[in-house]
Amino acid sequence: MNLILLGPPGAGKGTQAELLEAGRGLKQLSTGIMLRAAIEAGTPIGLQAKAIVDRGDLVPDEVVVGIIADRLAEPDCAKGAIFDGFPRTAVQADALDGLLAGRNSKLDVVIQLEVDDNILIERIARRAAENEAAGRPVRSDDRPDVFPNRLAKYHRDTAPLIAHYRSKGLLKTVDGMQAVETVAAQISAILEAV
Ligand code: AMP
Repeated sequence: MNLILLGPPGAGKGTQAELLEAGRGLKQLSTGIMLRAAIEAGTPIGLQAKAIVDRGDLVPDEVVVGIIADRLAEPDCAKGAIFDGFPRTAVQADALDGLLAGRNSKLDVVIQLEVDDNILIERIARRAAENEAAGRPVRSDDRPDVFPNRLAKYHRDTAPLIAHYRSKGLLKTVDGMQAVETVAAQISAILEAV
């Protein structure tokens, strides 16, 4: 099974993807995590992406599509993947269709996590403050001067995918402002019915 977790930054996509990976043997493919690892390791992709990620803009489509294409070919994706933070543009969505078709596979469902902007801003500020207080690194793009740009890019480039997947009959929407376990239970129920 292949599914997309679609939603704004801070909606809980990563948390839910981790729960699904543990419970269902599907692989979490987070382009955000992969880009941060590339930046940390100083790879050519990381060097290209660093400034873009730091200011909360989107990395070029061909870069993230390339990352996903390579990753999908790995054996641990054989049972399917949870796309977390990908696709973020219409170009990426089309590329994903092509990649899956090339593997005799397809997208089964898109789960939209819906969260109000003001709650996202509070959540991310809290995540940054908690990490800082605990002496853990704070994501450069969680800073209050950068996060609004990530949100703006979401509304401009990614939110149109909601209508795109709705028109294909693939979209399911979950209220992402509920408790983590409630969101997880509703996602499970959706997947059971797919
Ligand atoms: P995330 O961890 O999903 O919030 O991603 C962190 C940052 O990585 C984003 O703000 C973008 O700069 C970059 N990024 C992650 N995924 C993508 C994507 N699919 N397309 C473009 N940029 C991405």
